[in-house]
Amino acid sequence: MSTVLVINSGSSSLKYQLIDTDTEQVLGKGLIERIGQRTGSSSHSTPEGEHLTERAMRDHPSAFRAMIDAFRLHGPALDDGTPAALAHRVVQGGARFSGPARIDDRVLQDIDELSALAPLHNPPALAGIGAALEAFPGIPQVAVFDTAFHVTLPPEAFTYAIDKDLAARHRVRRYGAHGTSHKYVSRRAAEFLGVDVDTAKVIVLHLGNGASACAVDGGRSIDTSMGMTPLEGLVMGTRSGDIDPAVLLHLSRRADLSIDDLDELLNRRSGLLGLSGSADLRDVVSRADSGDADAQLAIDVYLHRLRHYLGAYLAQLGGADAIAFTAGVGENSPRIRAGAVATLGFAGVQLDEVRNSSPERGERIISAEGSRVAVLVIPTNEELEIARQSVELLGT
Ligand code: ADP
Repeated sequence: MSTVLVINSGSSSLKYQLIDTDTEQVLGKGLIERIGQRTGSSSHSTPEGEHLTERAMRDHPSAFRAMIDAFRLHGPALDDGTPAALAHRVVQGGARFSGPARIDDRVLQDIDELSALAPLHNPPALAGIGAALEAFPGIPQVAVFDTAFHVTLPPEAFTYAIDKDLAARHRVRRYGAHGTSHKYVSRRAAEFLGVDVDTAKVIVLHLGNGASACAVDGGRSIDTSMGMTPLEGLVMGTRSGDIDPAVLLHLSRRADLSIDDLDELLNRRSGLLGLSGSADLRDVVSRADSGDADAQLAIDVYLHRLRHYLGAYLAQLGGADAIAFTAGVGENSPRIRAGAVATLGFAGVQLDEVRNSSPERGERIISAEGSRVAVLVIPTNEELEIARQSVELLGT
């Protein structure tokens, strides 16, 4: 086994990467957007260059055909055992999937059944899997779940304090998300420091458009900030994160907002966007720098929430070996990293300002010599982790 085609299928997009798992090289990757709309676009890149196409894509099967065409036209060729397997990212695996699963009728049925918990995410993943089974018959296919890493959460961390029978009936509990990233980054952090993965205590801050924190004890997730859905926890690009549930009752009664309005408000019109008018942290920072008070408050709220979770996870873990920053914001924003750990001197966290501000990329340490807790930047690589887990499952 050497090549895995990793598929991330959203409601109107298809992302893919062909990865050689021996060399860990990306042989080809692409993004197809606006599936089901009147105009569509796709990009396909190989180590030799990038190719852009404008073409409408009716549905997921047509997007799959476009992807196969792109490989045929621009390489690398999909033949002679390439890909050896397909691996699909699936957001919600519930309490059912604690690791990757080889796709068969039973697994398809379970993913479909879990759509009740992730109506925006599981159905498009299923559409992608259906198209892939049709396009690549006879090649093993695997589902890798964002929630799987968090099945180790103890009951006190995953249980909401509400009526237990009602919660059980509707499977209301915390499942977490970003698990593939948290698993990859926490392991790399331990390896980077040369400490045993099985005993390392690592707090991972995955800060992208979506954002979540995770407390990892000996390679196991023991707490995470996303809940039943990816709405709970940190302030995100367009999502509110934590909020008093009574705010919803108040807005429903006083502002006459429907369930759908509230869903739209919290998922798409809150977070950095709601506070400052932009969901992109780069914009928010540049506006704050030119004196925009809303943008400055958005950054302050974002950092306040990050410190809240860092403090909580230091307490849950009883200290940490490392704090690891990852994803778009975590990998690129010295300001957010510095603001997040600024008050943690008492817990043995000492940032090195020069290391933190260095334009260096890749895995790196940004804490000072002698800091008891190491602060690291570890670029995430969810596709590689998905490919690796699939190879491990298929065992060839
Ligand atoms: P996604 O969750 O969609 O994968 P990413 O991990 O790419 O998102 O993160 C996107 C976020 O990263 C955006 O808010 C973007 O502003 C932020 N970001 C990227 N580069 C920088 C930077 N240099 N400084 C601050 N924020 C950045």
